[in-house]
Amino acid sequence: MTERLEDRLRQQIRRFRSQDNLEEIGTVTFIGDGIARVIGLENVMSGEMVEFANGSIGMVQNLESNDVGIIIFGKYENIHEGDLVRRLGKIMEVPVGPGLLGRVVDPLGRPLDGLGRIDSNRTRPVETPAPGIMDRQSVNEPMQTGIKAVDALVPIGRGQRELIIGDRKTGKTSLAVDAIINQKGKDVICIYVAIGQKESTVKNLVNTLEQYGAMDYTVVVTASASQPAPLLYLAPYSGTAIGEEFMYNGQHVLVVYDDLSKQAAAYREMSLLLKRPPGREAYPGDVFYLHSRLLERSAKLSDALGGGSLTSLPIVETQAGDISAYIPTNVISITDGQIFLESDLFFSGIRPAINAGLSVSRVGGAAQLKPMKQVSGTLRIDLASYRELEAFTQFGSDLDAATQHKLNRGKRTVAVLKQKLHKTLPVEEQVVILYALIHGYMDSVPLEMIEDYQDQLMTFFRDNYDVILHEIVTKKVLPDQQLMDSILAEFGQRFQPLSARPLVAD
Ligand code: ATP
Ligand code: MG
Repeated sequence: MTERLEDRLRQQIRRFRSQDNLEEIGTVTFIGDGIARVIGLENVMSGEMVEFANGSIGMVQNLESNDVGIIIFGKYENIHEGDLVRRLGKIMEVPVGPGLLGRVVDPLGRPLDGLGRIDSNRTRPVETPAPGIMDRQSVNEPMQTGIKAVDALVPIGRGQRELIIGDRKTGKTSLAVDAIINQKGKDVICIYVAIGQKESTVKNLVNTLEQYGAMDYTVVVTASASQPAPLLYLAPYSGTAIGEEFMYNGQHVLVVYDDLSKQAAAYREMSLLLKRPPGREAYPGDVFYLHSRLLERSAKLSDALGGGSLTSLPIVETQAGDISAYIPTNVISITDGQIFLESDLFFSGIRPAINAGLSVSRVGGAAQLKPMKQVSGTLRIDLASYRELEAFTQFGSDLDAATQHKLNRGKRTVAVLKQKLHKTLPVEEQVVILYALIHGYMDSVPLEMIEDYQDQLMTFFRDNYDVILHEIVTKKVLPDQQLMDSILAEFGQRFQPLSARPLVAD
């Protein structure tokens, strides 16, 4: 009995091996929006690439008892029932390597910028397992964004995943783009993945990056709103594969996924067409896995593996600030913290519109530069108590001196944390500005001149005390307090609000 069973198993295995020929050809039995059902591909693997008669590439998704469901990347209008489909015998992959820097590509790595072919002779599978526990080390170097409110309140470390979340038009993309611009000269490769955006928006963004010299170290992967859902689904994985090549090479990478809500919607569309059962909010049951397997690939690798890192800034759009909807809660639970942007703050002129109370970074503190930690330590509490006081004292004007002082400082803290677009600051300059703030040097500066004060203070430091700025980063300690106080007092004497300056410069 057992022998017969064994023989039968052996026979089956032998038959299976001999059947595994890659020249297997299938036939399309159904074609719909970006998906096809195909019979005859008996031995095809899930995730394998296939080629349609019209040249379009597809990826196998559903393996069912009598056919397979395939998503199509590219034109599907001229694919018909009865067309042939060929196995390519490999898992979906993209070209990788330094040849992609400065380029705009689609999720299959095909150029979209009209700059000719991509100079690359290596590829990587779009989906690979995330590094395991032993391959990692904890986050220990800062990923400076150059944005005061982020670097001070929600510091990000290399290898971390920090979610940027907020309603439409709250400055999510701008925050991520400024983080990219700030990597100039820092040996960090940036990947910007645009999912379901308008082509003109992506074009403008590329122009901005070019203008700030950021395209030299950046790759843009885009699947625009006009593309079929499978490409939108694939884009973040391709971007990650391109980033991983650099990470495993010992380099540091920053990846922005803009945005994962659109990827989830594309995945939902695809899954419904593939007839997978819909669950909550009509997303398929594995939508959590869609994002977890993507974001788990962000890592700080161990020294044995070269110590490279892949930091990710996924973006999620909320409706009316609802962070408890399905996709937002999923991604919040997968990431190491979130930066919550609020419409109310944005429209009241507080930009970046970061809600300090709801924003956290769970691991980045360990990587924050020590002097930065010292000057930003009490900032979050100061802001919270200011907000409380502000609401409380709205109607009364009769305030005691201590309360008045707190309100005064709070207003200046809010003003200091505002920052213009694309005007990122090196960490040492942020430290000096925050030092001046918490030591009361701005208390008597009129609110509308806080920005002016910071600009002039920085010019003053760079001109006269460049060494001190430099030492904040190299020695990683705050400069001597007496020295700082005397410099800031000296500057206070010289500070000229814009309005007090002569109109004609000499
Ligand atoms: P969408 O929902 O369309 O993706 P978004 O949340 O990504 O929007 P952005 O496109 O980054 O928002 O920004 C919206 C607008 O706000 C832009 O016109 C941008 O110039 C402006 N903006 C963003 N941040 C700032 C800032 N710090 N200072 C001034 N303007 C800003
Ligand atoms: Mg945006």
